[in-house]
Amino acid sequence: MKTDKDKPKEKLKIEQRELRHMLKDAEALATGLKLAKAEAQGARIYAENIIETMREPLLVLDENLKILSANRSFYATFKVKPEATVESYIYDLGNRQWDIPPLRLLLERILPRKNHFDDFEVEHDFPSIGHKIMMLNARQIYHEEIGRRMILLVIEDITEMRKKEREKRNILSMFAHDMKNPLVVSEGFLSRIILGKAGTLTEKQLNYLKIAQSELGKVSLLISNFLEFSKYEAGEFKTVFTPVDMQAEILKNIESEKMEAEKKQITISLESSDSANSVVHADAAMINRLIRNLLDNAIKHTDSGGVVTVRVTDRGTEILVSVKDTGTGIPKDHLPYIFDAFYRVDRNSKGSGLGLAITKTIVELHGGKIWVHCSPSGGSTFSFTLMK
Ligand code: ADP
Repeated sequence: MKTDKDKPKEKLKIEQRELRHMLKDAEALATGLKLAKAEAQGARIYAENIIETMREPLLVLDENLKILSANRSFYATFKVKPEATVESYIYDLGNRQWDIPPLRLLLERILPRKNHFDDFEVEHDFPSIGHKIMMLNARQIYHEEIGRRMILLVIEDITEMRKKEREKRNILSMFAHDMKNPLVVSEGFLSRIILGKAGTLTEKQLNYLKIAQSELGKVSLLISNFLEFSKYEAGEFKTVFTPVDMQAEILKNIESEKMEAEKKQITISLESSDSANSVVHADAAMINRLIRNLLDNAIKHTDSGGVVTVRVTDRGTEILVSVKDTGTGIPKDHLPYIFDAFYRVDRNSKGSGLGLAITKTIVELHGGKIWVHCSPSGGSTFSFTLMK
């Protein structure tokens, strides 16, 4: 049997050197592993600290919807104890208080398909803590270390926030509502004085009263717009869906805007192919409000001699309507906010900044989309779609 003694000295040295190298490699590997483990541990502690300090309640679930962990905010908000939470299935939590149908839909149907869902509002009456409005956000992630899917579910309690918003809206609309009556009465008396029913007026008095009447009219319009907008916001408008022929409605509105347009020598026309089927299932009163708003704006912001063109396109399952003008256009930096309530390009303008907000709400109530395009050569084109 051969031993190291029998090997030539040179070969022995080579083998010893190789052994030393292997030992060094193994040591480096062990150090690397230690570092990686420490890094993973550091990352976990870091993530756990972020979760703990988050103000929003958060649950970490496994793929079977069993709770792996919850943060402090979850326990405080929903008044549950860690020992009754961790390792429970979410629907079993607190005497099945969390067995909420919309939550089931989100976790079992939407999340597996989309991997996430954002800003879902859910209302629920909890036997222990009462009525709650919650904003849910979730992410499905793959946990490399345990080789399984995990769900991060953030449940924000927005009950107080919604209550404050409602109160603010109620105060504002109550205020507007209470102003409306005295305004209508004042307008009535003013027009009787102007008509000479309270005696003869000098020309100067008549002029002053007419200015007051026109200003009062603006305030009145502003209040009506605000009350209408508040109703849309609060979802208080009852929609009556019937078949509505868009081309016929547009022609009707063009006809009633003609006088205003003629004052500025503006031409308004409708373009569409004869074969276009423009019947949509919609609320006729709202559709008229929508068309009127866009035509009003186009005429208001177009100089004398300009052109306003309405185009209707049949897109099969939907109708595309565009209102194009040769007017002032809208500066690029204002475009992202143009449909926001109370937003006006010129802060000194007399409008309420509610027209386009109402327009957008109407389109969205019908499941459509609205957008604006301003070409560098001037003019704006407002386009919207409506489902057939
Ligand atoms: P308002 O009721 O005050 O007119 P809108 O919500 O209808 O408010 O419009 C918001 C702003 O958008 C207006 O201040 C106006 O400057 C701008 N705007 C709307 N339509 C047009 C248009 N066709 N051309 C140019 N600017 C427009």
